[in-house]
Amino acid sequence: MQIRARCACGHLWYVAQDLAGGLTNCPRCGKATQVDGLRDPLWRVLQGAAALGWVVVVVLLYANTGPLGALLGGAALAAILGLIYLMM
Ligand SMILES: [Zn+2]
Repeated sequence: MQIRARCACGHLWYVAQDLAGGLTNCPRCGKATQVDGLRDPLWRVLQGAAALGWVVVVVLLYANTGPLGALLGGAALAAILGLIYLMM
């Protein structure tokens, strides 16, 4: 998977995903250019879906188990999502 980089000179090209959030040199003008931090559009959609899913689960836990259940369940789910995020 490659991600997009755009230089101030207007040149657009693709770089290895390892460079996400880092710097690379423009192949046209040589200027150091910031690479997008987010990996790709699908990754953004997955992050949004995970955040929305977390909210839905916490609301359901609150409705079914009360504030303590929502707090504990929400914290546990956030920890699981955090681990998944770190592994990806
Ligand atoms: Zn350039």
